[in-house]
Amino acid sequence: MSWIRCHCGYIIHDSSDFLSYKGSIMADQDESDFFDRVEEIIKSDNHDKNSLMCDFLCKLSYMTKTVYQCSQCGRLYVESENELFCFTPENHNNNGVLKSVDNENWKGFLHAEWNEKKSEWQEYRGYVFADVNCPCESIESDDRQEIIDGYYRIFEKLKKSGVLRSAILKINKELIHEWSFE
Ligand SMILES: [Zn+2]
Repeated sequence: MSWIRCHCGYIIHDSSDFLSYKGSIMADQDESDFFDRVEEIIKSDNHDKNSLMCDFLCKLSYMTKTVYQCSQCGRLYVESENELFCFTPENHNNNGVLKSVDNENWKGFLHAEWNEKKSEWQEYRGYVFADVNCPCESIESDDRQEIIDGYYRIFEKLKKSGVLRSAILKINKELIHEWSFE
């Protein structure tokens, strides 16, 4: 599913990885089988345990159902056998139930880009955007230097807090800075 139009009108996109509003659920009826199989592989005498485990884990998605949460109204959508089942929350203060268990400490991404020529859909030439769970500023500006300075300022701050997985800065499509957590 690439997107869902929520009953509230909000569009839930599924166009990238590490989405804070997407998750997987496994039926309790399958969970025991899952751990039994893992244990069986670990304890087996098979000389190729690693590839057995890899094959098994690759099939993991067959045992799970995808769930999305609307960031605007909190409705949950469970995808099961190509059908979507919608669940409405009792209150609207639970919009982050599908976030990482690491909560604000989850390691996220920092992207920044500035282009002399902006696309039709862009309001500004540049942006700095942090995809993290902790509060963080984002910047939109036509000013190239403001984007560069803002990127390095936010980069140092997030890196110091230990909440970065990778960071990237591009100017006119050229890679200026790249960092990833080892
Ligand atoms: Zn909604």
